[in-house]
Amino acid sequence: MIIYGPVLSWRFGRSLGIDLIQPPKICTFDCIYCQLGQTQHKICSRNEFSRRIDIGVLEDELNEKIECVDVDAITLSGSGEPTLNPQLGEVIDVVRGSTKKPLIILTNSSLLSDVSEDLQKLDLVEAKLDAITQDTFASVNKPCE
Ligand code: SF4
Repeated sequence: MIIYGPVLSWRFGRSLGIDLIQPPKICTFDCIYCQLGQTQHKICSRNEFSRRIDIGVLEDELNEKIECVDVDAITLSGSGEPTLNPQLGEVIDVVRGSTKKPLIILTNSSLLSDVSEDLQKLDLVEAKLDAITQDTFASVNKPCE
């Protein structure tokens, strides 16, 4: 499934999720608190990300969900770091064509400079920063090289 939820979020209300990564987890980090468990596939850039989601399936799942459930927002997230998927811009356009609900992304901030053009099309970019020193960043987020 590409669409999941709705999930009840204290920040966004009832949110429908879009998993741009798909299991198993792929991420640029291996955070010590990650609810998805240890990162087995840690990569540094979009060039290394070879998975693709079926845009037609995404459209079908999204339209079906939107008809059945009332949600406050759509959130791009999922089984790892969503900005790793080069289809991000295309996915944003598909969601915009299906609903006027606020569109949000949850990102670990590692690829912000690579995806800024796509991120400007969103209503909210929830970009996390866990540490203010390099040592703490390395020990908490365990980023790729
Ligand atoms: S950035 Fe998110 S998905 Fe990646 S390891 Fe950290 S908590 Fe898990």
